[in-house]
Amino acid sequence: MRSIYPKTFYSNFKNLEGYWPKSTRLCFEVETWEDGSFLDYQNGVFRNQLYPGHAELCFLDWFHEKVLFPDEIQCPDAQYHVTWYISWSPCFECAEQVARFLNEHENVDLSMSAARLYLCEDEDERGLRDLVAAGAKVAMMAPEDFEYCWDNFVYNGGWDFPYWKKVRRNYGRLQQQLDEILCMYPNTFDFNFQNLNSYGRKSTFLCFEVERWKDGSFLDYQNGVFRNQLYPGHAELCFLDWFHEKVLFPDEIQCPDAQYHVTWYISWSPCFECAEQVARFLNENENVYLSISAARLYLCEDEDEQGLRDLVAAGAKVAMMAPKDFKYCWDNFVDNGGWQFTYWKNMRRNFSSLQQKLDEILWD
Ligand SMILES: [Zn+2]
Ligand SMILES: [Zn+2]
Repeated sequence: MRSIYPKTFYSNFKNLEGYWPKSTRLCFEVETWEDGSFLDYQNGVFRNQLYPGHAELCFLDWFHEKVLFPDEIQCPDAQYHVTWYISWSPCFECAEQVARFLNEHENVDLSMSAARLYLCEDEDERGLRDLVAAGAKVAMMAPEDFEYCWDNFVYNGGWDFPYWKKVRRNYGRLQQQLDEILCMYPNTFDFNFQNLNSYGRKSTFLCFEVERWKDGSFLDYQNGVFRNQLYPGHAELCFLDWFHEKVLFPDEIQCPDAQYHVTWYISWSPCFECAEQVARFLNENENVYLSISAARLYLCEDEDEQGLRDLVAAGAKVAMMAPKDFKYCWDNFVDNGGWQFTYWKNMRRNFSSLQQKLDEILWD
């Protein structure tokens, strides 16, 4: 089914830098499979509407009503492969709704390719990560994807797709930006975690692991990476926000009697303000145990040392990252492409002197 005019396609999908069309177009394909056999194919185009809103939500409404539950009966055992070509990547609100939808419907998988990245609020990056965490494949539209849409969704009058200038270069730039949002590359890890001087290492990265236990039995495990954002701020606060909302009180209900063992590997030890907030959080949530290992000590203000002592007083374990911790992070949090961890020069010596300094702060 073709339903976009060439002009509309062009004005919505061009991946030019600084180009901000206001609307969103979403070209979709849905394949229905059952027991490994292909059953059905549907495609079409959605755009933002007053109700239910953004094009992604229009798709979800249609898909839920017409495909998943036609006549309110679900086709049992069917599996749905959904592909989106979307002019803007989803905003945070849409990403959260789509992620929830994917979590609730395990028989649906979604691959989306976006022409441009919609990054207006700081939360929008988190939305993209949540989509990936919910199993969606997220990528930028390559020149071949634009051509595919032109051939399949546009009234193209038999004309070949006319590539616009810099389509491939802009795709490369956007895909790299998306990769940086979605994962931690070896370079990013090395630069941010090396326990060397502080030169240029302005951001904080926090790799976390959360184990949930109940009555002495292990229930589940989550991990991920946070970094400083404009809102709520330092990576530690990003973690607290996420942990409070998604783990401690999902759907505003607390899992009773659960215990949470949280481990942080963090590139800078917490500043005073973060340390105070984390300490308060630990004092208010006695079922949360926190171990922090930091690559470097952040000691800019005099108060920062007090912050570390307050963390320990609130029950946190605080230590410096040892060589084995760096290797552990490399193996578990870095897109390492199968490469072995390389120890950098003076790693162990720096660890020892930092640990000694930390001991003096905490115990002298
Ligand atoms: Zn949206
Ligand atoms: Zn901080």
